[in-house]
Amino acid sequence: MARFDDRVALVTGGASGIGKATALRIASEGGAVVIADVQDDAGAAVVAEIEASGAKAAFVHLDVTSEQGWADAVAATVQKFGGLDVLVNNAGIGDTEPLEVTTLATWDKVVAVTQTSVFLGMKAAADALKASGNGSVVNISSMYGIVGSGVSPAYHAAKGAVRLLTKTTALGWAKEGVRVNSVHPGFVDTPILGETDRDMLIAGTPMGRLGRPEEMAALIAFVASDDASFATGAEFVADGGVTA
Ligand code: NAD
Repeated sequence: MARFDDRVALVTGGASGIGKATALRIASEGGAVVIADVQDDAGAAVVAEIEASGAKAAFVHLDVTSEQGWADAVAATVQKFGGLDVLVNNAGIGDTEPLEVTTLATWDKVVAVTQTSVFLGMKAAADALKASGNGSVVNISSMYGIVGSGVSPAYHAAKGAVRLLTKTTALGWAKEGVRVNSVHPGFVDTPILGETDRDMLIAGTPMGRLGRPEEMAALIAFVASDDASFATGAEFVADGGVTA
């Protein structure tokens, strides 16, 4: 019996980077996976890759800032696969500038996609996760939800909020059969890094390299699975030693 046999997972931002690696990992361990993203073609390609391996997957177009979009995505998941057991709130975007030049528009956008999305997702999925009897939510925060860096005020504020939104929801649902935890990656080699100087990030990482999306996926799958069955409201850091 594989860890995600008979389990249904929804992964936001599953078309790229950490989310894509997580979708592939859960599918490789028996789960049916819904990839929810704004990137339709890339999301469909992940579904095709999973289906080619013999596992079950589907794509839903979801802008994680849309409350109606969330209701539709959860309904589509339950209709297609019969329920929802695992929610991975992974979609996120960042800002890069110092506070004094960060615009309100940037702040609002980053908070909406990176923080409000997690609130909307857990709210939309609450009934289905409780009905699972063994639900699990993994919210992807960041090491920058734990420590500051001097720039990116919206990203730090949003990721810090995800950390405590996770804890308070975990306590609220502790007797309802739904675990809620956060995962805090360090620098991981994905498109979100954009033009950032990789050598600078590597120099700032005690292990002397970037993380790989597959390494984050392995941790996320552990936290989502029954292997972490007594963990709730916990934060799991994988950052090559940055916050040690
Ligand atoms: P990525 O850019 O490769 O993937 C992000 C995904 O989110 C993309 O598929 C994108 O289309 C999707 N997305 C963006 N806005 C969306 C929206 N409004 N609705 C739905 N989907 C949307 O980046 P990644 O590195 O894989 O990031 C995944 C998560 O990991 C993010 O929350 C990010 O903040 C977090 N994280 C990443 C790093 C890193 O160094 N890569 C470090 C710490 C935390």
